[in-house]
Amino acid sequence: MFPIKTFVSERRAATLLQQVRWRDGVCCPHCRSESVIWYGSYRVFQRYRCKNYDRTFNDQTGTVFEQSSVELRK
Ligand SMILES: [Zn+2]
Repeated sequence: MFPIKTFVSERRAATLLQQVRWRDGVCCPHCRSESVIWYGSYRVFQRYRCKNYDRTFNDQTGTVFEQSSVELRK
């Protein structure tokens, strides 16, 4: 477990990323469909599932953070 303080900062960064990314509404990064359902969470990120594509993605998918282990707040 990491310290709760770290978790709060990361959660805030994740929420900010979510707000910026989906300001025009959530759409699928694979097929651009807006037929997306909320599908729980992945770590601190919201997870989604595309109805057309039958695939899951999260707030990080398709961003510079996706393949990175670097903390968001850096
Ligand atoms: Zn899709």
